[in-house]
Amino acid sequence: MSDPKEAIKEKSMILQKDMLAKQFSDLSKAKESGKKVVYTFVPGNLTELILSFDMLPVYPEINALQSGMRKKSAAFIRDAEKIGYSEDVCTYVKCDIGMMLNGNIGPTGEKLPPPDLLLLSYTGCFTFLKWFENLERIYPGVPVAMLHTPYQEDGIITPEQIDYMVKQLKEDVIPKMEQVTGKKYDPEKLSKMMENSAKAEDLLVKILESAKRKPSPIDAYFAGVYYIGPIFTAFRGTQEAVDYYTELHKEVEERIRLNLGPITPEGEIKEEKFRLVIEGPPNWTNFREFWKIFYDMGAVIVTSTYTKVGGVYDGGFRHDPANPLESLSRYCMGCYTNLNLPQRVDMLEKYVKEYKADGFLINSIKSCNSFSAGQLMIMREIEQRTSIPVGFIESDLVDPRYFSYANIKNRLESYFQMLEQRKIILQQENVTV
Ligand code: SF4
Repeated sequence: MSDPKEAIKEKSMILQKDMLAKQFSDLSKAKESGKKVVYTFVPGNLTELILSFDMLPVYPEINALQSGMRKKSAAFIRDAEKIGYSEDVCTYVKCDIGMMLNGNIGPTGEKLPPPDLLLLSYTGCFTFLKWFENLERIYPGVPVAMLHTPYQEDGIITPEQIDYMVKQLKEDVIPKMEQVTGKKYDPEKLSKMMENSAKAEDLLVKILESAKRKPSPIDAYFAGVYYIGPIFTAFRGTQEAVDYYTELHKEVEERIRLNLGPITPEGEIKEEKFRLVIEGPPNWTNFREFWKIFYDMGAVIVTSTYTKVGGVYDGGFRHDPANPLESLSRYCMGCYTNLNLPQRVDMLEKYVKEYKADGFLINSIKSCNSFSAGQLMIMREIEQRTSIPVGFIESDLVDPRYFSYANIKNRLESYFQMLEQRKIILQQENVTV
C-alpha cells in the first residue's frame, strides 16, 4: 500500500531519483571500479571536463542539502561546531565537515570515497576558497587545482578575462586532471558532451519559461530545485540529462495542454492566486513545510534566482561545442553568484515584469553571505522600479535552529493579505495585472 504522505511522482521524478541513486552507488564503488573522484562545487562547475576524463564528481553542497532534507544536518553541524567552527560559518560547510567527521557517509547511507583531486572552480562566493582550505587539511597530499573566476565587477565579460581563464584551464586544471587519471585531454570528447549540454539547457529554459503562462504549469522554486538537479550537478553533458529534460518538458507541455497548475506533494494547485518571484535559496531542513505554506495559499513561484546559481541559461548562454574551454570560462563567469548587484537587480526587475508577478519575496539565509549581501538594497530597488509589494523572511539552509515555522508562517500570511488587498484595489480601479 502506498504511503498517503508520499509525494505524487511523475516519470521525470522517478528518472531523476534513479540517476541520483546510481551516482551515489557509483561513488561508493569508485575504488573497485578504479574511477577517480573529484570534489568540486555547483556554481562554476566543470562537469563536462570532469566526465570527459571518466572521473566522478562529488558536490559538497549537494551532500549538505540532501543531509538537510533527510534531517541529518543538525547533528553534523553540532559536531563541526564542537571542533571550533563558529556559528557564523556557512552551514553547508559545517554540515559537510560534520559528515566527514562521522565517517563520510553520504546522504543515501553509502560511504563517499575520499577525493583524488580537489577542484576549486568557485564563482562569486569566497567561502568556497576557505571550505577547500579545510578539505586540503582533511585530505593532505591530494592535488588541488584552482580555477580563479574573475568577478563581474563591471557587469561584463571581457576577452582578457576569458583568456585568463582558458590559460588556467590549459596550464593548471587540465594537466592536474591528466596527472590524476593518467589519461590525455580529449577535446573532441568534451565538444561532443557540450552538444548534450546545450540540448539540455534549451529544454531547461523552455521548462522554466513555461511559468510565464497563466496559470503557470510549474512552481519554479520548490519544484524548480528538482528540475535543476541533473544539469547543475553530475549529469550536464550526458545523454541521461538530455533524456531527463526531454521527459520533463513533455510533462510540462501536457500540463499546459490541460491547463493545469503546478504539481505539489499533495496534488495540483487548483487556483493560482498569487504569482511570486523569489530571491535566495530555500530552507532544506523544513522544505516540505515551507513549500506547503505557499501552496496552501495558492501562491506559485514563477521564477527565482536560486535556480540560476549553476547557470543563467535564460539569459541566452549555452555551452558551445565549437569553443569548449572558452564556453566553460563564460559559463563560470555568468553564474548568478558571480553577477554584480546592479546585474542582479536588473535581472529581477525583468523577471517581475516578464512573469507578471504579483509580489517579490526574499528568503534571506542567515549563513549565506553571498546571497544575503545587498538584499535590502535589492528589495528597495525592486519596490521602486515595479511598485509590487515586497516581502522579507529569514531562515537558513541546513541549520534547523534558524527555521522558525510560526514566525515565517505569520509573516507570509500578512504578506499574502497585503497581496490580496492590492489585487482588490487594482480590480476596483479596473487595472489589469
Ligand atoms: S556562503 Fe552561500 S554561496 Fe557561499 S558556499 Fe555557503 S551557501 Fe554557498
